[in-house]
Amino acid sequence: MTMDNQRRIPFLSKSRFTAGLQCHKRLYLECFNRQLADAVTDQQQMIFDSGTDVGMLARGLFPGGLLISEDYTDHEGAMASTRIHLATGTPRPLYEAAFVHDRIRIRSDVLVPTGRDQFDLVEVKSTSKVKEEHLYDVGIQWYVLRGLGIKVRHVCICHLNTDYVYKGGPYDLGQLFRVADLTEECELRMLEIPSLLAGMRRALAASEAPSIRTGRHCAIPYQCPFYGHCHRNQTEHPVMQLPRAGERLLSALEASGIEDIRDIPPGFPGMNALQRRVRDCVASDRWYLAPELSSRLRGLKYPIHFLDFEAFNPALPVYEGTRPYQVIPFQWSVHTLEAGGNLRHREFLHEGNDNPQEAFAETLLTALEGSGPIIVYSSYEATRIRELADALPGLSHRLYSLLDGRLVDLLQLIRTHCYHPLFHGSFSMKSVLPALAPHLGYDDLAISDGTMASAAYSEMVRPATAPERKQEIREQLLAYCKRDTLAEVELFRLFTD
Ligand code: SF4
Repeated sequence: MTMDNQRRIPFLSKSRFTAGLQCHKRLYLECFNRQLADAVTDQQQMIFDSGTDVGMLARGLFPGGLLISEDYTDHEGAMASTRIHLATGTPRPLYEAAFVHDRIRIRSDVLVPTGRDQFDLVEVKSTSKVKEEHLYDVGIQWYVLRGLGIKVRHVCICHLNTDYVYKGGPYDLGQLFRVADLTEECELRMLEIPSLLAGMRRALAASEAPSIRTGRHCAIPYQCPFYGHCHRNQTEHPVMQLPRAGERLLSALEASGIEDIRDIPPGFPGMNALQRRVRDCVASDRWYLAPELSSRLRGLKYPIHFLDFEAFNPALPVYEGTRPYQVIPFQWSVHTLEAGGNLRHREFLHEGNDNPQEAFAETLLTALEGSGPIIVYSSYEATRIRELADALPGLSHRLYSLLDGRLVDLLQLIRTHCYHPLFHGSFSMKSVLPALAPHLGYDDLAISDGTMASAAYSEMVRPATAPERKQEIREQLLAYCKRDTLAEVELFRLFTD
């Protein structure tokens, strides 16, 4: 490596190291072409904000600490402050301590003194468990601290405990969080770090971004911020759109130089029946519809109900008796189709800041009482009904009776009996509807998917949200959920006409 190249290689950081682990091209773009990144959506911002809230709360597990600085633009200043505090031999934990070694800048969530010149290193994650990628997050920090001669006794990940039941009032932090000691596991990852760093620096020393094909790694373990940039010129039917395509099949296709589903020869080995059907439909530009779908739907007895739920799952529980990440339904929509063709709509969207579960369940039971099949799209509604039945003993029997042979999963029926090239490998309502009923999309709505609905509800129930904004969100949520059940009606009519 020449001196010129060495000078050009930028400092690394924990997030750049993580980017480099996902893909060297991502790391390169993060360092030199950040403007090519996808815009951060409101939903992603909410997840980041939630992570920040969890991080700040977790400091309470290590009380009496010193916050070095939350100004992440001034690493030098934060390092100077860290040095001063370490020099005093302070027995207090340090939050956001800053270090640099081997041209890697890090900030540590919590550094807990455990004796003379020795610390526990704690990384806070807003996840419900330790994930493989977390080991590298703390591993790179340990690499820097070790390089500086700072002794680390334990390397830990502090994450949310989904068994914790919130009792109201301040959180019981000892129960809300779990602290996992990962010293041994990290020690193993530490052995890999020098060669990982060398590979990343080689990529950064090049005059242009490495040429790396898109693939499963673009969304695992994180959605890459350059996803849109790298996929902008992709073929119309990329092989990645084969449903549940595994690594082995994708590698075999790649080895054969096949990027588009239309180029897969009939009989290509390793494909299951659904993948072969997708290949056949896309290659012939025809859709597949087995008669069983229509006959199953035509056999349903009226009235036929069409049901959809919206729910949210806050990282930090907001209602007494709930757990971190518990899914709380807050809205339902029901369209009911009578034998004569009459279509009725009813809906519920919780008002107020209290737990919506009981009002949600009671109104739902009233809307669906009596007889008639209930068409849903996926197993999501059945799962929520089961959870509500367990949470509300007084309504349990009636809620379970909804599951007693009344639910009909339209998604499963479509997955088994129908495929259209414009599904692009997905059977979600947002993929199926534009292909089969393009006149009834979501483009005219402010909220157009479940993640947006969940984020909007969180905003709506926040006490600081202005009344006008609450009303605006309310109308948007009602419009969105109603559209979902109307879409189910539309698909039903399409398949039974
Ligand atoms: S989208 Fe995929 S190929 Fe492109 S930078 Fe990200 S991970 Fe790498």
